[in-house]
Amino acid sequence: TEFNMLGLDKTIMYNITQAGYDKATPIQAQAIPLVLDGHDLIGLAQTGTGKTAAFGLPMVENLIHLEGRPAPKSVKALILAPTRELVNQICDNLSVFVRSTPIKVFSVVGGQSINRQINRLERGVDILVATPGRLMDLVDRRAVYLDSAKMLVLDEADQMLDMGFIHALRKIAPLLGTPRQTLLFSATMPKQMEELAGAFLTNPKRVQV
Ligand code: AMP
Repeated sequence: TEFNMLGLDKTIMYNITQAGYDKATPIQAQAIPLVLDGHDLIGLAQTGTGKTAAFGLPMVENLIHLEGRPAPKSVKALILAPTRELVNQICDNLSVFVRSTPIKVFSVVGGQSINRQINRLERGVDILVATPGRLMDLVDRRAVYLDSAKMLVLDEADQMLDMGFIHALRKIAPLLGTPRQTLLFSATMPKQMEELAGAFLTNPKRVQV
């Protein structure tokens, strides 16, 4: 599938061409139109399939059309991932997609100066990428408010469950704004994941690669 069939903004199109993307991968071809249409989504996909762009590109597209800068301490979209490495990788990918747009991406993970993170969050960010533990810490310190966030991505959700982040996820999700669009990506779909999806998603579409 050609990216120009997917209805993405021309700045985003330019950025993905510069990144060397030619054709959309299967998960991207399936997921991007559904996400642009506002559906909740369950994506069964391994890493390496292009799932970051599958949620990242329509997220950036939607945010480009949302007017206004984020308010202080607020975020417009939240991506949660299990590890520092994955958070940094997602942030690096998104930073390419948002070039020459007003969209600001920021990541927060444990093991780095929380004061620096608090300072940056003070100005508000469009897309926050975070590990659940560090985000909970920042929420508890009232360094960030999530009620302006209308989009939530849970990436590698099975790994987040395995790492014991279920309690953090259950505390974080209700803090976001409503209505909320929620995307859940996982390599496996055990029973506990179906329960989580049932609790967090509304009439989700399913895509599988
Ligand atoms: P991910 O599964 O999101 O970690 O992506 C795996 C790798 O594929 C990353 O290096 C991406 O930059 C790259 N990638 C994602 N989508 C495409 C695409 N449509 N064409 C070429 N490379 C891609």
